[in-house]
Amino acid sequence: MDTRERCLEADRLDPLARLRTEFVLPAGMIYLDGNSLGVLPRRARARTLEVLDGEWGVGLIRSWNTAGWFEMPARLGDKLGRLLGAGVGEVVVTDTTSLNLFKALAAALRIQQASQPRRRVIVSDRDNFPTDLYMAQGLIDFLQQGYRLRLIDAEHPLEQALDDEVAVVSLSHVNYRTGAMHDMARVTALAHRHGALAIWDLAHSAGAVPIDLTGACADFAVGCTYKYLNGGPGAPAFIWVSPRHQDRFWQPLSGWWGHQAPFAMAPDYQPARGIRRFLCGTQPILSLALVECGLDIALEADIAAVRAKSLALTDLFIRLIEARCAAHPLTLITPREHASRGSHVSYRHPEGYAVMQALIARGVIGDYREPEVLRFGITPLYVGHTDVWDAVETLRDILDTRVWDRPEYFRRSAVT
Ligand SMILES: *Cc1c(COP(=O)(O)O)cnc(C)c1O
Repeated sequence: MDTRERCLEADRLDPLARLRTEFVLPAGMIYLDGNSLGVLPRRARARTLEVLDGEWGVGLIRSWNTAGWFEMPARLGDKLGRLLGAGVGEVVVTDTTSLNLFKALAAALRIQQASQPRRRVIVSDRDNFPTDLYMAQGLIDFLQQGYRLRLIDAEHPLEQALDDEVAVVSLSHVNYRTGAMHDMARVTALAHRHGALAIWDLAHSAGAVPIDLTGACADFAVGCTYKYLNGGPGAPAFIWVSPRHQDRFWQPLSGWWGHQAPFAMAPDYQPARGIRRFLCGTQPILSLALVECGLDIALEADIAAVRAKSLALTDLFIRLIEARCAAHPLTLITPREHASRGSHVSYRHPEGYAVMQALIARGVIGDYREPEVLRFGITPLYVGHTDVWDAVETLRDILDTRVWDRPEYFRRSAVT
């Protein structure tokens, strides 16, 4: 049986526990929202001051060369690639996930158009993160060439959606709401068998679950650094292109940073060779420097240990809710099978919004997603077994005492 003592013991034996001290964790708080905004790496303060005072303050314009600013998107991309199963020169850290998805979709459609111009369908998931659908809709409207979006859901599975009209399959590896995870290799192979390219959004998997883009034979991938990678609010995202496509992909946002020779100042756009082509304009150096702080900590951890702990903690969370909150209308919407689960756990509750506000008021930070969904992110680098125990006990108390039923907990903020 699970007890708090056993949780304490498991934390004492946890090989990742030492990494917790690398982060700023406010006292009296259990943070279960690292899948939305990761926590602050302790080393980020010193690095920020170094960039501000030294590289910007003193180095000024010279720092583009002398402090490695110019190379930063690709250098960080190479580091990040180690967490994605990507090779050197295949990833850049740049722009936002939304923008990168636009670029990847445009590039994939262009590749398909060259050899199979009749393919005019983008397949995605009705339950995908909204920006992923919106960016596809925006691109389709912009192109005005009869492209359309075909959405899969429980009644219309991927197997039925694939035919000789499909150009691209664009999916999230881990679903942002339910935490359900696709088998990337299987789905990519299925897309390829039907002549489609596969784009993966790794926003909820990078840094949380083992990823092997090369092994899965994927075509493109994008994702965030401000979630499990602790890069900071609005930190630049990443984009990966398979080496198969590197010199054929077409960048729709053809800015000077993706030019073969940006400082030749030539009047005509000539794309750089390789992944640099996916850059657009001048990069946010301070934010990039912060991305590296979170990334370096993630790289110190063995991803197999991260995954093992993530599954142990999400299992524990599910077991404890079953054992201790059984009297309440909580419905698990996260898959129980390990192979189909990312690193967060979600429940529906009819008063989910108010319950979450009451939890936050008690120092347990998760988040709320429509409809009625309580979401709890498990970030193995800094969350432990005892945190899970204490979070579930707080939730149990809130539900037993109905403290969530207060007017202030029903008031909606702009960001939930
Ligand atoms: C968080 C998330 C995004 C966020 O995109 P931004 O451009 O960074 O706002 C995109 N897609 C998915 C699947 C996400 O989970």
